[in-house]
Amino acid sequence: MDDLELWTLIKNQLNNVLSPAKMGAWVEPVVAEVQDTTLILKVPSQFFIEGLKTDCEQHIDDVLKTLNLNYLLDYQVDKSIHLGASTPENKTVKKNTIDGFIDERFTFENFVVGSSNEFSHAASMAVAEAPGTEYNPLYIYGGVGLGKTHLINAVANKLAERDNIRIAYRTGEHFTNELIDSIRSHNTAAFRDKYRKVDVLIIDDIQFIEGKQSTQEEFFHTFDALHKAKKQIILTSDRKPSSINNLAERLRSRFSWGLVADIQPPSFETRMAILKSKVELSGIDLDDDICFLLASKISSNVRELEGALTRLTAYAKLSGQPITMALAKDKLRDQLQMKSKIVTVEDIQKQVALYYNIRLADMKSKVRKRNIAYPRQIAMYISKEMTKMSMPEIAEKFEKKDHTTILYAHRKIQAERDQEQSFDDELSRLMFMIKSDT
Ligand code: ADP
Ligand code: MG
Repeated sequence: MDDLELWTLIKNQLNNVLSPAKMGAWVEPVVAEVQDTTLILKVPSQFFIEGLKTDCEQHIDDVLKTLNLNYLLDYQVDKSIHLGASTPENKTVKKNTIDGFIDERFTFENFVVGSSNEFSHAASMAVAEAPGTEYNPLYIYGGVGLGKTHLINAVANKLAERDNIRIAYRTGEHFTNELIDSIRSHNTAAFRDKYRKVDVLIIDDIQFIEGKQSTQEEFFHTFDALHKAKKQIILTSDRKPSSINNLAERLRSRFSWGLVADIQPPSFETRMAILKSKVELSGIDLDDDICFLLASKISSNVRELEGALTRLTAYAKLSGQPITMALAKDKLRDQLQMKSKIVTVEDIQKQVALYYNIRLADMKSKVRKRNIAYPRQIAMYISKEMTKMSMPEIAEKFEKKDHTTILYAHRKIQAERDQEQSFDDELSRLMFMIKSDT
């Protein structure tokens, strides 16, 4: 592959994630050249470098990663490159009401709704329609790669269509670093001011402030100021508020003031629907049976599902071959194998013991204390649900004489699941963890 082909491949991928305006303004004029392990992007001016970095660098990095290309990025000014009519320098700059990086491809239109995410989706839509009213703050939580960041960007993109709205978008980490910088440079007043002037404050992965006292303190005051002024606050986290450790109690309670919504791993049907929508967006041809293969084998999260599709598309484009079942199986061998690894009773015992903080040996012990017997029953239940083993076989693994113990545990846990939503959620999450960790 020569430099031009490589850059064309990267551009094709960027096309899926960047708006036509950004593609035209920053990406199209670039001339790319590979020198050893560096990918040099040549552009007409220093100004251009800044723009390219701000708007596209992250995406270019992502594309390189998904294509498994380990190039370092570098930029060079090359005066011989001419711009077409649409140079960003002579375009009228749109009044900017957004502070922070919002991903334009994450919209409500391309978010697929299923039972696993419909609650969070509906809540996000409601907030995008009427910010600062009913659900304040909106707190969305769930595991990695399930669409939290997508949803809150969709809210931001929708809100950005309004006039005169000021949106600040940060990750918990970015917010924290900014605060630290402002303390170091004696600029906390400006920091405070900036955040209290916005109409909508969005913080992604708020769990990052776990254990960071001064950040929590500052965030608390910002939160109260905004909330009092009926400004919308949107937070995401990988956990519900009660599970964030080392969080000041007053913040914890505030996180639950508005609406707490969770996102669960998508069902097979939803995974199929997501895949089909991504296939459609990217304009490639992919047979239903290949979609089926991906959706059934890659169940841990949407990001991996998407990554598999991107990789497949890239290989097909690179080689000029159509995507066949054989190509899919060959190119995604690792991913498909890893995800189809069978969960064993031993895996389950180990993970459940870890989760409930008991000894692995207690999984087979006869101790009847509730704090030990209960996790054991949960492990029995999960073994029945997640493996193909019969009850007598499971009984053996728990060193029980006969299968009635398993039967009893299964009925009991199932009844509790049916009765109590929060327990049902917890168990789903635990089973999800077991599946993705083994
Ligand atoms: P999280 O923030 O929960 O870790 P992201 O929002 O980054 O996850 O989602 C990971 C990827 O999966 C993104 O590319 C996103 O567009 C995609 N994705 C997740 N859920 C959906 C969905 N329901 N419909 C379409 N794409 C989705
Ligand atoms: Mg995220």
